[in-house]
Amino acid sequence: MKHKGILVVVSGFSGAGKGTLMKQLVKTYDAYALSVSMTTRAPRPGETEGKDYFFISKEEFEKKIADGALVEYAQYCGNYYGTPKEYVEKQLEHGKDVILEIEIQGALKIKERFPSALLLFVTPPSMKELKRRLCGRGTETEEIIRARLSRAGEEAEGIEAYDYLVINDDLETCVKQMHALIQGAHSAPLRNEAFIANIRTQLEELSKGEK
Ligand code: ADP
Ligand code: 5GP
Repeated sequence: MKHKGILVVVSGFSGAGKGTLMKQLVKTYDAYALSVSMTTRAPRPGETEGKDYFFISKEEFEKKIADGALVEYAQYCGNYYGTPKEYVEKQLEHGKDVILEIEIQGALKIKERFPSALLLFVTPPSMKELKRRLCGRGTETEEIIRARLSRAGEEAEGIEAYDYLVINDDLETCVKQMHALIQGAHSAPLRNEAFIANIRTQLEELSKGEK
């Protein structure tokens, strides 16, 4: 039986290492498809259209919302971010686990719409290390870094909504841990409803003496 993939939401403070982890996860294991979001923020140096994000205008984004083309969307530090629906649905149908690297408001919307989604929250081992990574990335101004750290304080209030907390200390260890958590999640009863219904039917038939 071919299994449908599961939705995996990965959130975490800006600079926690989500992007780096996800690229490594997808490169290491072919069970995963990484959803590319749409955003109205400007590309960072080195970011590629269609690979890191689809960079669109506010008007284009609002048209996507109106057309129902997004699975979820949210505003983060003054910009829109959203998950295109078509890619996610196709990949799940093909049996891939689809990774959504999104912030907390989007994560909560996904949990509401898809109760079987797995929610992971990534954090560096300390907030001193978070600041070091965010500043070390060298892609944001001091003002934006301050806004993102302040937003991290709000996001920390929502961590309990997630299924697992994942500490990104050593990158390779963290990638292996995420893979193990996702594979383990496939065995949860709520992600195997069709299989369970099928064994119940078979048991009924057996108890009636049918083949
Ligand atoms: P996010 O996507 O969560 O905002 P990034 O993936 O851009 O974060 O990572 C932020 C910075 O931290 C990058 O410069 C990245 O190279 C670095 N980084 C990521 N993971 C680790 C790690 N495990 N150890 C040290 N540095 C890391
Ligand atoms: P960044 O600007 O650092 O790339 O992303 C800022 C925040 O937006 C991060 O927390 C990232 O996970 C989140 N984000 C990226 N894409 C999406 C999306 O499609 N939907 C939502 N809700 N958040 C997203």
